[in-house]
Amino acid sequence: MNTRILTVSATHPAPALIHEAAHLIQRGELVAMPTETVYGLAGDALNPTAVQAIFAAKGRPSSDPLIVHVADFDQLHFIARDIPAQFSLLASTFWPGPLTIILPKHPLLDTRITAGRDTVAVRMPDHAVARALIQQSGCPLVAPSANLFSRPSPTTAAHVMDDLGGRIPLILDAGACRIGVESTIIDITAHPPTVLRHGGVPAEQLTTLLGDIVVRQRIIGTHEAAPAPGMLLKHYAPRTPLIVYRGATTHLYRAILTHPQDSTLWLCYDEDVVYAQTHHIPHMSLGSHHDSTTIARNLFAVLRTADHADTSLLVVAEPQGDGVAAAVRDRLFRASEGRVVVLSDT
Ligand code: AMP
Ligand code: MG
Repeated sequence: MNTRILTVSATHPAPALIHEAAHLIQRGELVAMPTETVYGLAGDALNPTAVQAIFAAKGRPSSDPLIVHVADFDQLHFIARDIPAQFSLLASTFWPGPLTIILPKHPLLDTRITAGRDTVAVRMPDHAVARALIQQSGCPLVAPSANLFSRPSPTTAAHVMDDLGGRIPLILDAGACRIGVESTIIDITAHPPTVLRHGGVPAEQLTTLLGDIVVRQRIIGTHEAAPAPGMLLKHYAPRTPLIVYRGATTHLYRAILTHPQDSTLWLCYDEDVVYAQTHHIPHMSLGSHHDSTTIARNLFAVLRTADHADTSLLVVAEPQGDGVAAAVRDRLFRASEGRVVVLSDT
């Protein structure tokens, strides 16, 4: 299959381009679309053929459910029912935006979308292209990240092309994604409401709004069966092994020097660049360590670029702080398959 890339304005998408993409969706085909988090692989949520094609194109196991994307509240009626009271508070505060809300599933919704669960994940994206495509298609869209299963998520059309070129007919290219990590997922069918994935909306903001919430970040290895979606460890992973360091910068600098310089690439922060240059350590910066928004935006692109470098090991220090830094720590943990080294004085 020939994969076409259509360049589209991120703020004022040309109706003719959206029309062309929506036509494919209506025929049951798949389109990669930009969102404010990462690029999504979109298909008609109400068409079983399209739903099945998404799992096939990504190589995604059928046990990993999909997020349904809506452009307006009316579309919720096809997807969810018995909507819990917290929903309107969350949606009026964070939608459109990077918050996915788990709701009781509509009985007629395809069980493949929910991997057999009686709950469904729903989000209203904050991106003009995604919103226009949903509207023009006239149906909610299932849209997991447009990468091959377990690879770093795509934040540019080129990333999508690298993973899915030849497997899908069309990529809408609106440039790099603004947030760069996936949505936060909150399950409001649980008591208290439970954060299942850190992402674009900081968990602290959810606590401020809802009061009592819990964060459940259980993670298991690939050899075990996942008891619930999103718990699998290997995810977002570069092909080159990655080690994550946790601890003070002085210890980090000493640890970095123990790695062979000819085969190690340091994913560092702007503040480390002088040290790296002085010690001739190959490096790429994720941004200032004070600026987790920029680090999140750069993360997956840096992981992908680093993977193309001629090196046998990647090392990175965990970013500090709250907000979206928690999402970055989660993605790095999974990208490293849990290889976290805690630095200490001893
Ligand atoms: P992605 O589409 O790559 O952003 O991944 C979507 C993630 O949403 C999955 O891996 C799950 O963790 C989560 N998810 C989707 N549906 C549900 C659900 N019904 N219950 C819990 N988590 C879900
Ligand atoms: Mg994904």
